This record gives sequence, C-alpha cells and structure tokens, in this order.
Amino acid sequence: MSVTMDTLVSLCKRRGFIFQSSEIYGGTGSCWDYGPLGVELKQNIKRLWWRDYIQRRPDMVGLDASILMHPTVWKASGHVDNFTDPMVDCLECRRRFRADKVDETPWVHYCAATKGNKFTIPAGEPCSHCGERRTLCPECGKGSLTPPRQFNLMFKTFMGPVEEDASLTYLRPETAQGIFVNFDNVAQSMRRKLPFGIGQIGKAFRNEITPGNFIFRTREFEQMEIEYFVNPRDTVEGKPADEYWHERWIADSLAWFQRYGLREENLRLREHEKDELAHYAKRTADIEYRFPIGWSELMGIANRTDFDLKQHAQFSGKALSYFDEERKEHVVPYVIEPSAGVDRALLAFLADAYQEEEVRGEKRVVLRFHPELAPVKVAILPLLKKRDDVVRTAHAIRDTLAKHWTVVYDDTAAIGRLYRRQDEVGTPYCVTVDVQTVGDTDKGESADGKVTIRDRDSMEQVRVPIDALPTVFLDLLSGGSWSAVASRFR
Ligand code: ATP
Repeated sequence: MSVTMDTLVSLCKRRGFIFQSSEIYGGTGSCWDYGPLGVELKQNIKRLWWRDYIQRRPDMVGLDASILMHPTVWKASGHVDNFTDPMVDCLECRRRFRADKVDETPWVHYCAATKGNKFTIPAGEPCSHCGERRTLCPECGKGSLTPPRQFNLMFKTFMGPVEEDASLTYLRPETAQGIFVNFDNVAQSMRRKLPFGIGQIGKAFRNEITPGNFIFRTREFEQMEIEYFVNPRDTVEGKPADEYWHERWIADSLAWFQRYGLREENLRLREHEKDELAHYAKRTADIEYRFPIGWSELMGIANRTDFDLKQHAQFSGKALSYFDEERKEHVVPYVIEPSAGVDRALLAFLADAYQEEEVRGEKRVVLRFHPELAPVKVAILPLLKKRDDVVRTAHAIRDTLAKHWTVVYDDTAAIGRLYRRQDEVGTPYCVTVDVQTVGDTDKGESADGKVTIRDRDSMEQVRVPIDALPTVFLDLLSGGSWSAVASRFR
C-alpha cells in the first residue's frame, strides 16, 4: 500500500515532525518548520551523508560557504540570465503557474465541437472531440492564460543599509557555486590531487512559481551537494575519467538511498534528453523516487564539464586550473555534481518507512525507519508511574542512554498507547521498567535488575539486565540484528 501525501502531512503535524511555518498567522505559501522529531530525522540524514561521503572517503573534503556571495558569482554562473522558468498568468484570478507544469492536472473543457458539452480532460491530453488543448486556468477554470514569459527564480536582496542597485545581491539558489569559487583555496590548502571532491550541505532559495506538495517543492530548502573534480585527459578502465566517475557517482548515490531504506522498486534513473540538458552539461541523470505524487526527481547527477571553473576564471580574472605533474601542463578539471535535496530525501524516507498493519484486530501505524535514521532510538517507559522506584530507575536509564543516543522518557499513557506512539514515529526500541525490575518489599519480592526491550518491527520482547543496555543498543543501533542480540538473553 502506498501512503498518500495527506496522511504524511497529518502524521508529521500530529507527531511533531513538520509544522506549517507561521501557522498562527495563517501560514506562509511554501515554508515548513521542522519540529522536535523532524529536526532529528533531518540531522540524521545530513550526518549519515557527511559521514559516508566526507568523513569516510579519502578523496573528499567538506566546506561551508556563505549564503550571500559576490553578485558577479551569479552573472558568471549564468543564473542571472538563465535561471528562469516560463510563467503564465490567469487573466481572471491572477494566479501564476509554471508553463511546463500547467498541464499536470485534469482540466474542464466546454467543447465547441459537441455543442458546448462539458468534459473533464485528463492531464496533459487534448480534447478527443475538437483536439483543443488547455487554454483556461487550472485553478479557477474561467480565465485564459497569458503566453509564457521568463521569470527569474533567484531571491533578490540588498547588502548593507542602502537599497540601491549597487548593493543588490541574491540568496544562493544552489550551494554549488560556493564550492567552485573556493576550488583553488581548497586544492591549495589541502594539497589535493585529482580526482577529489568537495561536499557541502546548506540552505538554498528559489522563488518557485508553483511551490507545493508539502516539502517536495519549497522556496527555502536544503541541499547536499558534491563537486567531484577529475582530470578530463585521464582514462579510467578504458573510459574518459569524467564519464567513468559519472557512472560511479550514479551507482553510489542509488546504493546510498537503498542502504538507508528506500526500496529498489521505488527508485529509478532518468536520463535527461539532449534538448533538456542544461547548456553546461555533457550528461545528466536524475534519480527519481516514487513519491506519493508519482515519480519525481529526488536528486540530479550532472557532468558539468569545465564550464563553471572556466566561467569563474573569466569573470574573476583568477586562473582556476590544476597543474598536471605528469603531463607538465595546466588543465581545467571537469566536474561531476551529485546534488540531492535534504527535504526531498526526508520525504522519500518517510514515505518508504510508512506502513499500516493489523495487529490483534487493531490498526498499527509504524514508520520502519532504518535505525540510524530514526529520530528517537530508544523510548524508556515505566509500567507503573505511581511507584517512585520504577520512575526513578526509568529516569536513570534515560540519563545513561542519553549520553550516546537521542532517547525519550514517556509515562503519559497506558503501555499499549505508549508503544503505538513510538511505532508511529519509528522508534526502533522501547525499554519498559516494571515492578520486577525494582522488586516489591511488601510482597517480599526481590529486584531482578532487568528491563524489557521491545523490538518495533517484530514486536518481540526480551528481558535484559540494566547494566547490559549500553552494549546491547550499541550493537542493535550499529547494524546488529534483533534476533542475534535477543538470542543472547533467552
Ligand atoms: P526540479 O526539476 O524539481 O525543479 P531541479 O532539477 O531544478 O529540480 P536541481 O537544480 O538539480 O533541481 O537541484 C538539486 C536537488 O535539489 C533536486 O534534486 C532536489 O532534491 C532539490 N531541490 C531543488 N529545488 C527544490 C525545491 N524547490 N524544494 C525542495 N528541494 C529542491
């Protein structure tokens, strides 16, 4: 069963993942705020990406460039002239649409060829009677649409106290340019030899004409981008180095999303057609995910050739090249750019993790997050909140585990409810503390110092000594299987 966007939006709000920005003022068009669990999930995605691509690879380094840059950067990159989308306006309701997206919804048509009969025509199709295509507004259905005109997606702003043209600059629409302009700084300071890559995670801003579909398309979002520089004169395994590395990055990126839970059948690769390619690109492939809105771009992997470094060299007057020791010549590296959206990745991980199942006649909603992605790793739940010693022990366990992981303590409902709540936010393990753990002097029962761990996916339980919890969770949360760990205590 695939989950709908409405179900995800409502779960995200109810359970503290994502709220509409400025909601008490009626909300803003396309901005969302990550709540306590959303921010944990988002940070986990970014941390894993950084760990896998920057920390663990010998050929990669990181960067954190500023969002505001010299305005000439955007001239050189082509964004001032070319970073546009075609826009059409409705003459009646004044709404604006991206011309290339207008045909993505069904439209209402009064067909002249059939005495003005009303038809609802499927998205993207002409009327089968008269052959006419959509001419009216997809929202109000009354106004006709203007011819398309180009609209620049960059947000303008002013540096300093004077609002005049001289101080005009832009919020970056991609993080990539911060990497290109620092190419020489990084190569020199870190004594890098080709091939090597620079990775960066950060905010980007685009004044999208039609934002929407929850966090899929927003005006402020985050990117995880790599610029991987290669020597175009090299060959690797019989292929030009840029083509070889492009293939490698496509395969690595697909594998990365699968490693953290996206199912293979929900991922596919889409090659850009020749006429769709950006002017600088030799080849671009998008990784698409089967979002609740259908197959759409999750990330793009482009071969940007030497375009960016050459442009910045020309506009800045500074050489941005690499000295090839072997050939004793200067070369401008080619660059492969794997570029992923953090928010789109989060939406994909959420959608893929969502499952509804029936347990003992009741519906159970569970987010089967990979343990490393799960916002909360362990929930500590006292079975009897009236017993001080049970509560105290539960708090003490929380404090110990919180040194290593994000954990929560919850005693605000009966145990069944508490389990369901943790399932719904994807917490892989719950620990319950009961009377047996602390003993009952009135009944002459001694403490066994053990607690129950419950596994989210199988709902199995096993009793383990409190002292063993840190090593047990270290094992479980770093890839150890539940059955192997649980069998040690049976
Ligand atoms: P689209 O065709 O969906 O507008 P794009 O091809 O313009 O995307 P890129 O410029 O390749 O996107 O940006 C790289 C990645 O950044 C995208 O794959 C996506 O994950 C993310 N991204 C781009 N625009 C947005 C946006 N408005 N909201 C959220 N994420 C975005």
